Amino acid sequence: MPKAYIDPAKCQKCAKCYAARACPIKVIFRIDADEPAIVEPNHCHGCGDCIEKCPAHAIILRPS
Ligand code: SF4
Ligand code: SF4
Repeated sequence: MPKAYIDPAKCQKCAKCYAARACPIKVIFRIDADEPAIVEPNHCHGCGDCIEKCPAHAIILRPS
């Protein structure tokens, strides 16, 4: 099953991926405001719903 991955070099820390509930099961988070968003890989089920909601195109699905 693929998992979402956020490229930390592309993430603009805009918060849209989690503040706007881009992930229906809320497994995208950020440790603090200065850090890029990250995905909890053990809980992501690879639906891909978050990908188009990132304006920076920082989220991809990749094989787990
Ligand atoms: S929506 Fe994209 S750019 Fe914004 S915090 Fe999430 S991963 Fe980073
Ligand atoms: S692929 Fe689906 S489950 Fe995984 S982080 Fe994105 S929206 Fe959430």
